[in-house]
Amino acid sequence: MSDPTINLLRDLIAIDSVNPALAPGGRGEKQIAEAIAAELQAGGMDVETQEVAPGRTNVIGALEGKQKGRSLMFCGHMDTVGVMGMEAPFDPVRKDGRVYGRGSQDMKGGLASMMAAALHLAEKGGLPGGRLVIAAVVDEEFASIGADGLVTKWKTEAAVVGEPTDMKIAVGHKGFQWVEITTEGVRAHGSRPNEGRDAILRMGRVLARLEKLDREIQSRLPHPIQGTGSLHASLIGGGHELSTYPDRCTVQMERRTISGEPANCAIIEVEQILENLYNEDSEFKGSTKFIFGRPPYLTPADHDLPKMLEATLSNCGVKPVRGGMTFWTDAAVLGEAGIPSVVFGPGGAGLHSTTEYVFENDVITCRDALIELARVFCAG
Ligand SMILES: [Zn+2]
Repeated sequence: MSDPTINLLRDLIAIDSVNPALAPGGRGEKQIAEAIAAELQAGGMDVETQEVAPGRTNVIGALEGKQKGRSLMFCGHMDTVGVMGMEAPFDPVRKDGRVYGRGSQDMKGGLASMMAAALHLAEKGGLPGGRLVIAAVVDEEFASIGADGLVTKWKTEAAVVGEPTDMKIAVGHKGFQWVEITTEGVRAHGSRPNEGRDAILRMGRVLARLEKLDREIQSRLPHPIQGTGSLHASLIGGGHELSTYPDRCTVQMERRTISGEPANCAIIEVEQILENLYNEDSEFKGSTKFIFGRPPYLTPADHDLPKMLEATLSNCGVKPVRGGMTFWTDAAVLGEAGIPSVVFGPGGAGLHSTTEYVFENDVITCRDALIELARVFCAG
């Protein structure tokens, strides 16, 4: 017989919750939100739902302590990335102490730990003090409209975001900025170089400078928690047919950022490159525009949440490791809204790839550490 927390995890994996904004045809979070709400309600928690877009609903459960104390939130996303190339994404297979399936590590494992911790506290006579909020949110894998909506209504004194950190206590991560660059040329017959101006070759000049800039950014002194920034050219398009000069080329690029870099550094850097290229060749034509971005995050250095989590992890027999994660999380949204957060979740492998799994023991240890953390932190 398996642990009820692992059964819960398998139930969550079995529900298709592919993010529809990310993967066309994705089922979205409707069904999993209903299942989570029912589970929390059956466990004796007060449950509210918050529809942040049509059919896209956050689920928030609350457990009140017996006495006054502090409030803590466990936050996790319900959506997953797409399943292309996976054989049985929603068939939660258990093997060698692992559970396989889409979202097993990112982040239904963390979600199961958080739900099981809250349900355990609700069942075992409640929370000694304060208030525990569990928030299951939509759309983290795309634009985080779930977390954005959550913080307009729900505030706690601290939060744990259960993304997969391989049991590391993450007190920061990078941000990102998406930028589009367009170069222009003149469309003409391929045999007429006097008339044609090649937008793709012009983009080549931009790309060469971006590559150089990336090397320079990555050679800077790394931030102790966030490391260095970086960039890559993610998508490129342009041209009409083989025998024609292309009049337009577009690149969409991503810049990963660390604390201390300007909020619009990607645009500033690209504009500088375009200006330099124009100064060298007045025929050069290029422009840039901002698409979307999110800031990096650092947990306030003097906050007691990381220290408390270290102590509870030690009590669970795990040597605590503190550090940063490379990937962006909803912790940045919570942090900006005034909720100091750490990121902490189980180990595994294959997030966003075709073979994804999470370690069962980690899911259970996470649950136990979160139970203890809620008791200690919320007591005040
Ligand atoms: Zn995730």
